[in-house]
Amino acid sequence: MDFRPTEEQQLLRRTVREFAEAEMRPHVMEWDEAQHFPMDLLPKLAALGLMGIQFPEEFGGSAMSAVDYCICIEELARVCPAIALSVAAHNGLCTAHIAMFGSDAHKKQYLPRLVAGEVLGAWGLTEASAGSDAAGMRTTAARQGECWVLNGSKIFITHGTIGGVMVVMAVTDSSKSHRGISAFVLEHGTPGMSAGKKENKLGMRASDTSEVLFQDCRLPAPALLGEEGQGFINTLQVLDAGRIGIAALSVGLAQGAYEAALKYAKERRQFGQPIASFQAIQWKLADNATRIEAARLLTYRAAYLKDRGLRTTKESSMAKLFASEIAVKAADDCVQIHGGYGFVKDYPAEKYFRDVKLLTIGEGTSEIQRLVIARQLLGQ
Ligand SMILES: Cc1cc2nc3c(=O)[nH]c(=O)nc-3n(C[C@H](O)[C@H](O)[C@H](O)COP(=O)(O)OP(=O)(O)OC[C@H]3O[C@@H](n4cnc5c(N)ncnc54)[C@H](O)[C@@H]3O)c2cc1C
Repeated sequence: MDFRPTEEQQLLRRTVREFAEAEMRPHVMEWDEAQHFPMDLLPKLAALGLMGIQFPEEFGGSAMSAVDYCICIEELARVCPAIALSVAAHNGLCTAHIAMFGSDAHKKQYLPRLVAGEVLGAWGLTEASAGSDAAGMRTTAARQGECWVLNGSKIFITHGTIGGVMVVMAVTDSSKSHRGISAFVLEHGTPGMSAGKKENKLGMRASDTSEVLFQDCRLPAPALLGEEGQGFINTLQVLDAGRIGIAALSVGLAQGAYEAALKYAKERRQFGQPIASFQAIQWKLADNATRIEAARLLTYRAAYLKDRGLRTTKESSMAKLFASEIAVKAADDCVQIHGGYGFVKDYPAEKYFRDVKLLTIGEGTSEIQRLVIARQLLGQ
């Protein structure tokens, strides 16, 4: 067992950190307030290999490991969790689904543009009446001759408005429950597909989230992604990997919040001394630093297992559950350590506090992670 990062991983961390500090930090609040995703960041992210982190070089990807992926997402989230969320959804959901289950033709058609950052990927599972119970979806894809016809709507879709390529799950056989769900891949702008309401969010505001509507949206037969009836089962495999990304995002956000709190605690003076000299503040810092290290280890362990081709359902959920919950605590303590200044927008604390809450909700709530872990423990 070796806990040391390789020289390449240290260089990767430094490179992504310097990029995030230079290209993202100065604009974080401006993007947040305008709810604006900066499309001009895409070629810069792509130049660093961050739009195709784990995908094969033959499609222009960076062919990095799952552990490297965690390092990249962590470093983006340390500075701007919303951009990290978009990069994670693009890599870990849409692009991963095509890379894992697409045909050679799908990969050739979509992966080069996705990993080059020419288009953002979106991934549509959730519906207004089917969130945690995603298999209860109502969007349908009916076979009509050589076409599939999609009808229904998806909600809370990252890049629902600005995504160029979308993977969408729909019911193809309502008699077969979750085995009657299939995945499809389509271009944004396909007739019959449109973006609905853009959400006005508490946090992660630079990351676009919207409804996506399908009304008699006709797709050619090859738009079927993976085998018919396997869409939901494939989705669970995509989420096993995607949750490692959300765990890494949580670690990065917690690290950013902790560093902001540490800096402020050394600068802020009350009762004639820096507040960092008070034990109440020191214990918060010590507890957060310890929890962040524990979350990072759980996250890297899940990624390490994934790199070895092992199933990580339990480990991914454990990492996502623990890391997201300690990140909530880190962001809360960051505000607390800033006192009143934690409540205003001149300091980064309030934004970490708003952004962090998504992490115990997206890609499966904490309650659902516990359910997944318990099922694995009970062998169900
Ligand atoms: C910013 C943002 C981005 C998102 N991006 C995407 C995306 O790109 N693609 C996509 O498909 N989805 C996306 N989602 C949707 C997200 O995955 C869902 O919101 C999430 O899975 C929860 O579903 P829900 O909101 O319907 O909550 P619900 O399922 O209605 O849950 C409400 C509450 O009930 C609890 N609950 C539900 N069932 C159980 C149970 N069996 N046992 C115990 N408690 C339970 C939940 O834990 C939660 O506390 C996004 C959401 C947000 C907010």
